[in-house]
Amino acid sequence: MILKSILLIMVMVMAKSKKDINQDYHKKHGLEYHREYRGKNRDKRRKWNKEWIENNRDKYNASKYLYRDRLKLEVLTHYSKGKPKCAICGMDDIDCLVLDHINNNGSEHRKSIKVSSRASSGVSMHAALKREGFPEGLQVLCANCNTKKQIELCRKERLKNPVYKERLECDVDDTAAA
Ligand SMILES: [Zn+2]
Repeated sequence: MILKSILLIMVMVMAKSKKDINQDYHKKHGLEYHREYRGKNRDKRRKWNKEWIENNRDKYNASKYLYRDRLKLEVLTHYSKGKPKCAICGMDDIDCLVLDHINNNGSEHRKSIKVSSRASSGVSMHAALKREGFPEGLQVLCANCNTKKQIELCRKERLKNPVYKERLECDVDDTAAA
């Protein structure tokens, strides 16, 4: 009886191993086959994709827009730690919200995650942030607060020019005296 049970277990283990081996084989060779197939038929696939998009424009656009909308919501929700809103004034109209690099290092950061310098809040930036596991150092701002932050930053830079600073102070004094 015990021997029978041991034999049964051994058969089960062997059967399982065989199944696993088969799965691994198909997984590996299936992937290789598909990779090879894609490589060999690149032009055919491109043509097929193009035709499909032309014949299914509404379906294609709907998927594209939904993907963008959902991705934006997901990214802004993450960086707002809840319902998307401006970290300064609390404005929560998603159409007016953008991502902002807290330490103004957007340019280097975009380069490091291989995103175009113009893609500050676009779909490629959102996709890259998700792909990178939502790196730290970003916040959500409304367009107004973001613009004001940029203006203040530029002003701070300009004030490093002593001549500009002095003349600006004279203008302020003149205005106050008038
Ligand atoms: Zn704001």
